[in-house]
Formats: sequence, structure tokens, C-alpha cells
Amino acid sequence: MIRRLAIIGVGLIGGSFALALRRAGQVAHIVGAGRSRANMERALSLGAIDAVAGSAAEAVDGADAVLVAVPVGAMPAVFREIAPHLAADCLVTDAGSTKQDVVAAARSGLGEKVAQFVPGHPIAGAEHSGVAAARADLFRGRNVVLTPLPENAPADVARLAALWRACGAEVAEMSAEAHDRIFAAVSHLPHLAAFALVDDLAGRAEAESYFRYAGSGFRDFTRIAGSHPEMWRDIALANREALLTELDAYVDELSLLRDLVARGDGEALEALFKRASAARQNWTKHRKP
Ligand code: NAD
Repeated sequence: MIRRLAIIGVGLIGGSFALALRRAGQVAHIVGAGRSRANMERALSLGAIDAVAGSAAEAVDGADAVLVAVPVGAMPAVFREIAPHLAADCLVTDAGSTKQDVVAAARSGLGEKVAQFVPGHPIAGAEHSGVAAARADLFRGRNVVLTPLPENAPADVARLAALWRACGAEVAEMSAEAHDRIFAAVSHLPHLAAFALVDDLAGRAEAESYFRYAGSGFRDFTRIAGSHPEMWRDIALANREALLTELDAYVDELSLLRDLVARGDGEALEALFKRASAARQNWTKHRKP
């Protein structure tokens, strides 16, 4: 049971974590700190938090657990600000979509208190942001990846895993490097591909006609192009190396497809589509709903 939980950045993820832990009866008092007064008022009225702190430093004062759930580019300043105010037994974690940059920021900002920081990433979300989109069941049946540090006490890692399980999530562990490599391919690249297609069409003279007739294929492919621009700017910059590798691989695959189309090679096109279609069907068959 957490006596005082501090959430820095009470948006979709921070708000959902608060609602889920409250519903699970795992927390007595939740304090939030954020940038926008309107969002914090909303967090209070939705029951995600019990009190609004004037700053991140004030929020963590006396807390026994802290979740940092701001865009990853804002994390270095948050770590620096909260470091002097963290009690020795306070567990600190984050929800950032990238891990190596967040770990580096935590090392530099938290100093020797980095041992109290167990990095995490819930693989759940939506293209909507802000606490108004938060849901107590957002993490139910979803994976949460922890990338523990060598300095972490095993008991702290176990404590954090138990909190995420109380939110209904399944918990996995991997290195921060493996995390960033995998998510560059299955999350960061698809977001860039969706942003690119929509941006290309939106910039055309006849954009209105294209969008008017776009159907469900376009809707499915581009759903994530409605995601939070600030958050995705930070992710693209934070995971630059792995993302560049994946962009190059995708451009190569598109060039291959372009060649096949240009040459009119139906047999090769069908073979490629067959492979991709089977892999996609296999993935949906084994994926949790
Ligand atoms: P969000 O925009 O819904 O919430 C972020 C909140 O942080 C906002 O309320 C914003 O006002 C506040 N904030 C921004 N900068 C701040 C600062 N410097 N100090 C205090 N508050 C600040 O975003 P979200 O979707 O909840 O994402 C939060 C984190 O979780 C990000 O690091 C993101 O990479 C990660 N994440 C997002 C998803 C997703 O699909 N949305 C999934 C997994 C992880």
C-alpha cells in the first residue's frame, strides 16, 4: 500500500496509473504536479488525484512512490528538480516511451539516488492525450516493460512490478538498449510512417478530395497520426539512432516494392504480400485483444 503517490505529468498515462491503483486499493493519497492548471483541475474532478502540488519538488516531498509521466524531453529537468526532495525509501519510476535517454537523464539528474529509480514503459496508450482520456482499465492485459538498473534493489523492482500487476498489466524485463531497438521498429517507425503519409496528402492542392474519399484502409493506417506531436517529437529525437536504422530498413523495403511495381513483377509482389499477410495473421492470432 502506497501512503503518498506523486504523479509528475497527470495526462493519459499518469492519470490512468493513478485511477488504476486507486481502483485496486493500492494507494491512500495521490498528489499531482503538471504544467496546465486546467488539466490539473480536470484530474481533481475525475478523482485521479487528491491534491495539486505547486511544483514537482513539492509533489514528491514525503512521497513513498513517484511516477514521472511527462514527455521524455521534459524528464531531465524533472529529475534534477525532484532529486533533493526524495526520501531515502521513495521508489521512483517513469512511463517514458524510450529508455536509454531516460536512464541517462536519471543518472545525471538523480545522482546517487538513481538506485531508487526503476525505469518502466507501459505498452498501452491511445492517440488521445491529457487526463480527460485517462482510464482505470488502460493497462489491463497490457505489457509493461521494466528496464532495471544494476544499482536497483531487487525488492524495489519487485515492488514496482507488483504495482503494475495491480493495474492489470503483465510485466516483462529487458535491457534499455533492447527496449529502444524493439520499439523503434514496432512503434516509433509506424508513427513516423503514419505522420508522413498524412502530411504528404495534406500538403497537396487536392487534399480535400483525397481525404473525402479516404476509406477504412487509410483510417487504420493513419490512426496514430493523430497522436500528440510534442510527445512524438521527443521520442523521435530520444531514440534517433535506432529509429534511423529502422527508417533505412523501411525505405529499402519500399524501394524494393517500387522496383517490383515498376517492373510489373506480379509474381514477386504476390509472394511478398503473402509473406507479410501470413506474418500479420499469425501476430493477431497470438496477440492479446
Ligand atoms: P499526455 O500529454 O497525456 O500527458 C503528459 C502530461 O505531462 C500533460 O498533462 C502535460 O501538461 C504534463 N507535462 C508536460 N511537461 C511537463 C513538465 N515539464 N512538468 C510537469 N508536467 C508536464 O502524455 P501521455 O500520453 O500521458 O505520455 C506521458 C509519458 O508516457 C510520455 O513520456 C510518453 O512517452 C509515455 N507513454 C505514452 C504512451 C501513449 O500512447 N500516449 C504510451 C506509453 C508511454
